[in-house]
Amino acid sequence: MKMLTDIHNHSTFSFDGKNTLEDMLAAAQAKGVAFYGVSEHFDTDFFIYGMHKLRPDVTPTDAESYFHRARHLQDDYAGVMNVLVGAELGYCNLSQVHEEYKQMLQTYKPDFIVNSVHNLHGEDYYMTTPYYRDGKLRDKDEVLDEYFRLVRDSLDVPYHYDIVGHVGYVTRYMPCEDKTVCLDTHKEILTDILQTIIQKDKILEVNAARDALLPQKDILALYYKLGGRKVSYGSDAHVATNIMQRREKAVQMLKEIGFTHISVPCRGEHIAVEL
Ligand SMILES: [Zn+2]
Ligand SMILES: [Zn+2]
Repeated sequence: MKMLTDIHNHSTFSFDGKNTLEDMLAAAQAKGVAFYGVSEHFDTDFFIYGMHKLRPDVTPTDAESYFHRARHLQDDYAGVMNVLVGAELGYCNLSQVHEEYKQMLQTYKPDFIVNSVHNLHGEDYYMTTPYYRDGKLRDKDEVLDEYFRLVRDSLDVPYHYDIVGHVGYVTRYMPCEDKTVCLDTHKEILTDILQTIIQKDKILEVNAARDALLPQKDILALYYKLGGRKVSYGSDAHVATNIMQRREKAVQMLKEIGFTHISVPCRGEHIAVEL
């Protein structure tokens, strides 16, 4: 059965969300979404590394308020729209952060988790600092390789996750004209990442935020060739008007590669929805 899914969204419970959760859900329903995933930010590394001092806009999500309100809204929408109450956990390699995430998962039992790399050991890709050393722009492939190794490490975190978020995020803020990844140059690490996603039975996200769909098409095609069939779509909307953005484009790309279904994670199960 064909149903619309959008399993990566933020509201004002996240520091960078622009619309309330109530408004986001109303907009999603108006757009005919059948499965709507809320994935508020949890980026504990920001506060442990002190990165928030450089970005005072970054504040932690209040887990108690978020889950409490979201569970109520989930009930309100029962039978109308499947609201999935999830979280996007920013990866870092500090065990202190892993323990905090584990604790949060145990306390609130989110319906799904997006595992995302946003930062490089205390440096924020958004702030572009990882692209420079000593004031000089680094070699693009070196930056990409470092990022992909971080993504590979993130797949082995000691807490549960369902979706591997926006692979290729590093390219989004890269201060250069050509933001494409040369697949041949990075094939070994990308193959490792994609095979690990398949082995661990995780879902590879197609993320539609900003201009380009992530991951790029040839990386998705490699995933398919290696046997990967589980993909999700996420608008990564931070404002109601962006819910479902570029979904048609994402679906078309997935169909061209050969995918037939979208996977919707819910409490450890993956629901297959026809593309
Ligand atoms: Zn993210
Ligand atoms: Zn996000």
